[in-house]
Amino acid sequence: MTQQITSTGLDEVVKKSPRKWVYLFNEGNATMRNLLGGKGAGVAEMTNAGLPVPPGFTITTEACNAYYDSNKQFPTGMWEQALAALKVVEQRTGKGFGDKNNPLLVSVRSGARFSMPGMMDTVLNLGINDETVQGLVALTGDERFAYDAYRRFIQMFSKIVLDTDPRDFEHVLDVYKERAHVATDAEIPAAELKQLVVEFKQIAERQSGEPFPTDVHEQLRKAIEAVFSSWNNKRARDYRNFNKIAHSLGTAVNVQTMVFGNMGSDSGTGVAFTRDPSTGEKELYGEYLLNAQGEDVVAGIRTPSKISRLKDDLPHVYEQFKEIAKRLEQHYRDMQDLEFTVEKGKLYMLQTRSAKRNAQAAVKVAVDMVAEGLISKEEAVKRVEPSQVYQLLLPRFDENEKKKASQEGRLLAKGLNASPGAAAGKAIFDADTAEELGKAGTSVVLVRPETSPDDVHGMLVARGILTARGGATSHAAVVARGLGLPCVAGTEGIRVSESEKLFRVVDSDFVLREGDDISIDGATGEVFAGIIKTVEPDFNKEVDLKTLLGWADKFRKLGVWANADYPRDAQRAVTYGAEGIGLCRTEHMFMEQERLPIVQKMILSTSQQERQAALDQLLPFQRSDFKGVFEAMVNPETGEGYPVVIRLIDPPLHEFLPSYEELLVEVTRLETEGGHDEELQEKRKLLEAVGSMREANPMLGLRGCRLGLLYPEINIMQTRAILEAVAELEQAGKKLHPKIMIPLVGHVNELKEVRRQLEAVAEDIDKQQGRTIEHKFGTMIELPRAALTADQIATVADFFSFGTNDLTQTTFGFSRDDAEAKFLLRYVEGLEEPGLKDKVKILPVNPFQTLDRDGVGQLIRMAAENGRKANPDIELGICGEHGGDPDSIELCQEIGLDYVSCSPFRVPVARIAAAQAALTHGEKDK
Ligand code: ADP
Ligand code: MG
Ligand code: MG
Repeated sequence: MTQQITSTGLDEVVKKSPRKWVYLFNEGNATMRNLLGGKGAGVAEMTNAGLPVPPGFTITTEACNAYYDSNKQFPTGMWEQALAALKVVEQRTGKGFGDKNNPLLVSVRSGARFSMPGMMDTVLNLGINDETVQGLVALTGDERFAYDAYRRFIQMFSKIVLDTDPRDFEHVLDVYKERAHVATDAEIPAAELKQLVVEFKQIAERQSGEPFPTDVHEQLRKAIEAVFSSWNNKRARDYRNFNKIAHSLGTAVNVQTMVFGNMGSDSGTGVAFTRDPSTGEKELYGEYLLNAQGEDVVAGIRTPSKISRLKDDLPHVYEQFKEIAKRLEQHYRDMQDLEFTVEKGKLYMLQTRSAKRNAQAAVKVAVDMVAEGLISKEEAVKRVEPSQVYQLLLPRFDENEKKKASQEGRLLAKGLNASPGAAAGKAIFDADTAEELGKAGTSVVLVRPETSPDDVHGMLVARGILTARGGATSHAAVVARGLGLPCVAGTEGIRVSESEKLFRVVDSDFVLREGDDISIDGATGEVFAGIIKTVEPDFNKEVDLKTLLGWADKFRKLGVWANADYPRDAQRAVTYGAEGIGLCRTEHMFMEQERLPIVQKMILSTSQQERQAALDQLLPFQRSDFKGVFEAMVNPETGEGYPVVIRLIDPPLHEFLPSYEELLVEVTRLETEGGHDEELQEKRKLLEAVGSMREANPMLGLRGCRLGLLYPEINIMQTRAILEAVAELEQAGKKLHPKIMIPLVGHVNELKEVRRQLEAVAEDIDKQQGRTIEHKFGTMIELPRAALTADQIATVADFFSFGTNDLTQTTFGFSRDDAEAKFLLRYVEGLEEPGLKDKVKILPVNPFQTLDRDGVGQLIRMAAENGRKANPDIELGICGEHGGDPDSIELCQEIGLDYVSCSPFRVPVARIAAAQAALTHGEKDK
């Protein structure tokens, strides 16, 4: 029975302090995360729910910040409040801190607002010294236990507070195990442990150069300081930089009565998830160890048992734990990640938090919880990260092939799963070779000891990245995730030799050399020799995902369209839920083998007749291209077509011709060899033509609508092909909604003139057909001037589609082709500055990936508003990479666009992101 004890002692001390720095667990709750940290809020909530939590108190995150603000001094009153709270804990437990007859031991645990796994520190068994250990022995009658607790304390305190090298302790522990002829630390006899404690203290004193603190209050003070300091260690700073967590949040410190899992075989410690975090299956998932303490389970000291075995080992503890797990899930209405300890058959809860889960589990848990009546559909939609939806639809390795590879011993190592997806190809050990081969179309996996900005050009063309060193926030991991590339990082099981261009597998004599086949799984961290077949996930089999996306569709306000150039892309887009095509590029069609010679003839023609003849040849090709795309976008049941936006020719014409440099080499070769007069003449003509088209800045050159104004025949042919395709399909009973998009307009007169020419074509076709064929003309807004004069342009456009790739390029003046490799990724990653702790970030994100709110976003907002004012019927959408980026989608929702258009693979991502944007907005508006 716990006595009813008030916290008056603490209240009095608080009254004399400038602020309340310390909360007993029963004074907090789940809503106080900011102040108490995630762990503190969790134990407080559990305490108040009546669950068995060892008593303790939390020192607030504000105290941590105040500590830093006052040059690493505890803020006024904090220590006194901690001592008063400790008094309450002493009363509740009936033990005394430093009492040599009945000692209270505590843990000192860090706990920030956001969980930062493994980043900060915890000290266990604090309050032990040569005197109190005797009390422990007397109380428990268990010498082995008491000295095991003592040696653990010295070990942890030394590592975390005194900052000494933990390996010396581990080494001595191994020596003792060997000497006692035992396999595990739990079996070392008491007499040996006693000796070990003496030796541990000596190591600690030698390493730290000061006597090991025997005063329990000094131990406590130092441990609290160490937790505050761990907030600012390099690991923690890097982690926060990567996860965009503010450095100013601070960590709380939890001081909690120790309960002991190392008191024999009816004691133990464990961790468990309320559901399986990799499948979402509704069953306890976790591990425990008997006669063990703290993080022995995760540290791999002994092999832990599956949580289901606890049913046999400690049946009533298992039942109680299952019950508590269920209660906590109901209470938090989310899957929990739990830590517990059993002391002599009694269960204690030490932590609860919302569980990290992979993509599959996230979707299944969300959908299941709706069915269980635990959460609403809105909540389910809000809970799944768009990136998790994306992951579910990435190509993966064929599971059978992977199993086979493992059985054949081809699984070489396992590193960190730094960026999801599967990649297979040739192992290449330097960025230059990777770039060369990658550009030539070879599948390359770039393997490096670790990567640096000098490797980015190779990373850009690689299928995947493998590194031997570096964590989830290493350069390789950050860049790979940014590029959407699979990455396995920190693979300690391999040694990469740059100079020999190979890696060796540490625990075998396997060597993998440059050019050898390799496969990496960025979702699991596995590295295989040889090529493993990948499979496209089957969207139709993802039943839970489809359910979730169905709900998302009900909540979202933005339309979701896709960018698709070919019928097969269009089909995929429809399968994934697209409601239209926002961008169909026509230039790819020009590149196809049987057409390219005709296109070249058209470009090189010297007279208009010649050009027209070539275009006449191209027309039937284009017509059937467009027919294919339109057909793929027709609902087979209703015959009604989704809207399709076709963009007229956009790139500069020289892109369809051989490169100037190649031709020059060719001509020189023919000249020196002699005897190829005819060929030489032809090549010279071509070289001259290509030379005359060369531009210093082709991106800003003769392209887009400028081409159409100089060579109207091309646009006219394309428009004719589009409308004739529509006419043919409509004759077959279908109803279509074609939209023709004129790119790169900067001045309203450009659009006016092109539109005038093309309306004439439409009229002509209407006349031929004897009826009106629906069509719309619009433009891309992709130049700042177009955005600035959107009110003028809107008077001649039926729709705007924001071409945000070019708009970003031209607004920033960043070349899309070069900026990322040359400097842009470094802007985002941060520049090293001597004398500064953190890298200096110039840009928060890559603006080609996430719309730049303040600049480009501002232009879009203005153009949308002014466009609508001038033409209330104008339809507004966005195409380009940003259309599938969740943050950009949120901005599009705020601006009030009608739809986003993205690559077919990202359509499901956009559906969920658009729903989330609508839901958060709805709430904000309320
Ligand atoms: P982390 O944030 O790294 O998970 P914790 O503060 O949760 O660190 O502590 C790690 C482990 O130490 C816990 O999972 C638990 O096993 C053990 N531990 C912490 N406090 C206590 C305590 N009061 N009694 C027994 N074990 C504890
Ligand atoms: Mg923990
Ligand atoms: Mg463009």
